[in-house]
Amino acid sequence: MAIATKIQACIEQSSWIRKMFEQGAQLREKFGAENVYDFTIGNPSVEPPQAFHDTLKALANAPEPGMHRYMSNAGYDETRNAVAEFLTSRCSKTVSGAQVIMTCGAGGALNVVLKTLLNPGEEVIILTPFFVEYKFYIDNHSGCAKVVPTLADTFQLDLAAIEEAITAQTKAIIVNSPNNPTGVIYPAEELKALDSLLKKKQRELDSQIYVISDEPYARLAYDGIEVPCMFDCIDNAIIVTSHSKDLALPGERIGYLAANPDMDGVNVFMEGAIFANRVLGFVNAPALIQRLVTSLQHESVDIAAYEEKRDLFYTELIKLGFDVVKPQGGFYLFPKSPIEDDVAFVQKAQEYNILLVPGKGFGLPGYFRIAYCIDKGIIERSIPAWKKLAAEVGLSS
Ligand code: PLP
Repeated sequence: MAIATKIQACIEQSSWIRKMFEQGAQLREKFGAENVYDFTIGNPSVEPPQAFHDTLKALANAPEPGMHRYMSNAGYDETRNAVAEFLTSRCSKTVSGAQVIMTCGAGGALNVVLKTLLNPGEEVIILTPFFVEYKFYIDNHSGCAKVVPTLADTFQLDLAAIEEAITAQTKAIIVNSPNNPTGVIYPAEELKALDSLLKKKQRELDSQIYVISDEPYARLAYDGIEVPCMFDCIDNAIIVTSHSKDLALPGERIGYLAANPDMDGVNVFMEGAIFANRVLGFVNAPALIQRLVTSLQHESVDIAAYEEKRDLFYTELIKLGFDVVKPQGGFYLFPKSPIEDDVAFVQKAQEYNILLVPGKGFGLPGYFRIAYCIDKGIIERSIPAWKKLAAEVGLSS
């Protein structure tokens, strides 16, 4: 079968994901699913809020003629306005529905934004550790990913490293807060400092640099922390997000992009993005789910339950001697690997039926990721296995 060489290479690059999945399946078959502790996938085990089911039933019981037809490529006005109203409630600006496009998840939104912005060869800065798909998405639109580190030990923005990486070819930087995989939230002052830096570089280089704020975890923040609104911090900000995590609807593929009303050339950008949404073949976000989320903008899954799992897992890991930054949001932990080779550590963990993802997959070897969006009982049951693993790799508890 003659598939494209490039796709073949991409599959090979990400083959470790498939390998891990297969190993997980083998372990489940051998030991029984309840005895395997799978912390690999960010697929929330929680159900959507009750309001979702109520709205779904109400829609099914009162079908309206035309409700499954094509619509404007940007989505239903009613849905875009509801999203705009929600964003306005979170920041100090008035966002209008005209600055919102409904998309097939945050992944769809990222592809739409990159297609809209990038000329071939233009650079997009991504920060380690990063969401695995960024490199593929940038490549989809003939861009070049430029990988820049975050600050060691805190995973916060390293503005000096970002400044050094910016060239005349830099078109965008993707920031992800709360972060997958670290759980770190970037404070408003840091984002404002990034805005000043980008403005300085834009003047120097006579260019435009956009901040693509990938924020599907924005509602999952703990300890009373509010994730700063990007539009209040960065003028050239484009938010991409979804209801995959906050309403636990990843399979429904519903998200949106929104541009800062104060962004330079915002109308031209929106026109381009609506076109990109169409020609990428998305055409529009799914009709039924758009109608559903219209009235659910202020709803969310039980955030306290995630916070409880974070506290439980973080406390146990610290007790066992792991070195880990306490996540402020999201549903991942990103501890340092106790042995230098993170892939070897993940393999060792499998001997105790613990499934993890090596930091290498996020562009940062020497760490590993735990996804804790699973039942609390699995986390609790896994603790004896973690104890044995910690002892084997020489951690002191
Ligand atoms: N961005 C980040 C950082 C993610 O973790 C994910 C999914 O896990 C996505 C984007 C894609 O989200 P969606 O399911 O809405 O496409």
